[in-house]
Amino acid sequence: MATLNRLLAASETTIFTVMSALAAEHGAINLGQGFPDAEGPADIVRAAADALLDGRNQYAPLTGLPELRQAVAAANRRFWGLEIDPDRGVLVTSGATEALFVCLAGLLNPGDEVVVIEPLFDTYLPVIRLLGATPKSVRLAAPDWRLPMDELAAAFGPRTKAILLNTPHNPTGKVLTRDELGVIADLLQKHDAFAICDEVYEHLVFAPARHLPLMALPGMADRTLRIGSAGKTFSLTGWKIGYVSGPPSLVEVVTRAHQNAVFCTPPNLQRAVAYGLGRDDAYFSGLAADLAAKRDCLAAGLTRAGFRVLPTEGSYFAIADFSEFGFAGSDIEFGRYLAREVGVATIPLSPFYVSDPPAGLIRFAFCKRIEVLEEACGRLRQAGALPLAIGA
Ligand code: PMP
Ligand code: GLN
Repeated sequence: MATLNRLLAASETTIFTVMSALAAEHGAINLGQGFPDAEGPADIVRAAADALLDGRNQYAPLTGLPELRQAVAAANRRFWGLEIDPDRGVLVTSGATEALFVCLAGLLNPGDEVVVIEPLFDTYLPVIRLLGATPKSVRLAAPDWRLPMDELAAAFGPRTKAILLNTPHNPTGKVLTRDELGVIADLLQKHDAFAICDEVYEHLVFAPARHLPLMALPGMADRTLRIGSAGKTFSLTGWKIGYVSGPPSLVEVVTRAHQNAVFCTPPNLQRAVAYGLGRDDAYFSGLAADLAAKRDCLAAGLTRAGFRVLPTEGSYFAIADFSEFGFAGSDIEFGRYLAREVGVATIPLSPFYVSDPPAGLIRFAFCKRIEVLEEACGRLRQAGALPLAIGA
């Protein structure tokens, strides 16, 4: 048999799919893969349905419907004070997943280095490596997930092409501060490097934390590609509509990657997302407030069940430390145990690391109805009262 692509042939099914399958198999409550268990706003879903009946079923333009590109540019200005050219500075993609792929493909040549921050979202490393580039990783350390500035500076060098930055951060829920972003901006200028900013959770931030795009810092607009996701912003993760904003010189090359990978995304969904981005401020603040209440509910329930819950400022996720249980196996085994025996699916943290992951940490998604979170915490609490079973 001819050799297939070595990297892909050697890689495994993503942990999100593995844990969702396990949840389905055991009828477990799925607090693993990050997706809300309630529908997104009815008016946005209606706008998509109307667009299907309104002649919106042929190819959309390569870079996206003009109305969505204008809405993305307007949202950049409204929320973050950013000036983006709606015609040449926006690219609509098949979710942020495709956006990440095409941004990396547009910037990287084999041999380039990309600074990444661990723990990291699962597509980053495989895509960087597939493009023949090398990840240079800097680690956030639990429990406060501080960004170690010396190590960050040391990760930059003559071959650095870009940093791949995720704020608000999956899986830790960390929101980078202005000071941290300022250090990153200085390093990018010093090394003449680009930034790809995965900001899919830009609207899922809990006061007093505030999201700030790196692109808004002085000198960054010309070297930053900023990625958003309608799936997250409108609680419609299955829609897979993402958007890249950036300077036309960069977006043009990223578009060359997009035209070869996907070409365009469903126009009815694009039209509905354009409508959604124009919703009033109450929608966006309500989304974050609703999620903050769910975060608090999960954190309280997990604490009662015996976990040490780490603070989270944004995203769908909270990390819990389970070392107190004295469980003998790995985090993956613990995750399997919880899904199978306790009826709660989670995501173990080790797949978010390049190597040598910290022990005893597991991720819970709290983008679920309060009664579902309470039921899950009740199950965990019962199991926590049986340490021998947990340690089995
Ligand atoms: N980046 C991060 C950090 C994510 O958590 C996700 C998860 N959905 C994505 C990108 C992908 O987003 P999308 O579903 O829009 O492809
Ligand atoms: N972003 C989601 C998570 O972290 C998963 C996305 C996926 O399954 N590809 O749970």
